[in-house]
Amino acid sequence: MSKILIVADHLNGQLNGAVARCVTAARAIDGAEIHIVVLAADPAPLAAQAAAIEGVAKVLTVANAAFAHLIAQQVAPAMAQIATGYSHVFGPSSSFGKDVMPAIAALLDAPQVSDLMSVESSHRFTRPIYAGNAIITVEAPADKTVVATVRSASWPATGNGGAASIETVSVEATLPNHTQFVELKQGSSDRPDLQAAAKVVSGGRALGSAEAFSIIYSLADKMGAAVGASRAAVDAGYVPNELQVGQTGKIIAPELYIACGISGAIQHLTGIKDAGTIVAINKDSEAPIFEVADFGLVGDLFTLVPELEKAL
Ligand code: FAD
Repeated sequence: MSKILIVADHLNGQLNGAVARCVTAARAIDGAEIHIVVLAADPAPLAAQAAAIEGVAKVLTVANAAFAHLIAQQVAPAMAQIATGYSHVFGPSSSFGKDVMPAIAALLDAPQVSDLMSVESSHRFTRPIYAGNAIITVEAPADKTVVATVRSASWPATGNGGAASIETVSVEATLPNHTQFVELKQGSSDRPDLQAAAKVVSGGRALGSAEAFSIIYSLADKMGAAVGASRAAVDAGYVPNELQVGQTGKIIAPELYIACGISGAIQHLTGIKDAGTIVAINKDSEAPIFEVADFGLVGDLFTLVPELEKAL
């Protein structure tokens, strides 16, 4: 029987929503027993959140001041010890997951499956390659632990309703001190988080300046939506890097995505593959974005975006 351990990603006392998506992926493996491990300075409130996720049998907690801020170099040795006896170790394809899971795989001498999209059996999975242009089926060796990152956009979050038991575990592994957390710098915004938002309004190169991008923020605020951008808009300095959507930015799956002045390059479309409804505003009726859009408005965004906001 599969026994799956999920590494909890968390920040400021909140479990990352991607953990509940990992649980959904784990539940796709027939008869799997699912555990979540919370490594934190104060794991109790996080463990309570994890225990409430339906389908989770047990939450393991490791309390250590070193885990006040999770970094791969310290989490991986602890995980390598805790993972003993598990057939699978899953983590989200968040920045933390992408950092820590390969380190865990290396310590367990196991090959990693990245960006798990669907489960065919306990050891066969699909994952995207070539920037999402092709889907490959991969099979992990049966005699090794399966270490995998779960592609958040491919899995809905499992809801609450669970009541898993919570157990404290101690870790004897020596945590290296060659790498230490120093500081976290992040943009502060009252707007919804780009990766979790149900609605996203994005702007591209066509905006032309940081000042002009204000019409995108204004429409997004009217709709309670998060703001995204193409790489061209980010590279031109109209918006900060963390707003980039696409292959080298964020992979998102909102219910509604509105692309304003974005051509629809394949690297951008990779980031919105799993979006529900796509709306495109572009003055070029031949723009590739219209091939994937459910609704298209051909025209000047500087006229259409304010009009749309007014109509809302
Ligand atoms: P453009 O392609 O210049 O398109 C601007 C669009 O705006 C055009 O379609 C134009 O018709 C329209 N327009 C102009 N004026 C107006 C107006 N007034 N009203 C309405 N429409 C107007 N890109 C990403 O977005 N995300 C990524 O993660 C990413 N990763 C990449 C990784 C690699 C390895 C490479 C090589 C490229 C990557 N790119 C990525 C870049 C990508 O190839 C495109 O260059 C980029 O997405 C283009 O951004 P854009 O659509 O804003 O600009």
